[in-house]
Amino acid sequence: MTRPLMTNEQGKKALERLRKIKPFIQASLSLTRKRCGNPRCRCAQEGPFHEVALLTWKEEKRTRTLYVPMKLRQEVETWVQEGKLLKRLVAEVSQAQREFLTSKKKSSKG
Ligand SMILES: [Zn+2]
Repeated sequence: MTRPLMTNEQGKKALERLRKIKPFIQASLSLTRKRCGNPRCRCAQEGPFHEVALLTWKEEKRTRTLYVPMKLRQEVETWVQEGKLLKRLVAEVSQAQREFLTSKKKSSKG
C-alpha cells in the first residue's frame, strides 16, 4: 500500500516523467569554428576552419566553457534537452504543489 501522493494531476504527471529522467546537464551547446593551432593545417591559411562544439554554462556568475568532442556532440545535445526538461518539470511540480495547497485551503474553509 502506498500513501496517496499529496499532489494534483499535473503534479503526478510531472513526477512520473521525473522518475524517467536520463543523464542531463544544465548548459547550452553551440557550434563554432576555430583554428586548430597547427601551422601546417589548411585552417592556418585559407580555411575552412574546424567545426567545434562548445558547451557553456554559468558558475558563480561566470560563464564557463568546455569543448565537446564532435563524436559526443549528439549525445551531449540529449543531455542539454533533458536538462531543459528537468527545469520545466521542477517548475511544474512546484506550481502543482502551490495549487494543491491553495485548493486545500479553500476546501477546509467551507
Ligand atoms: Zn586545423
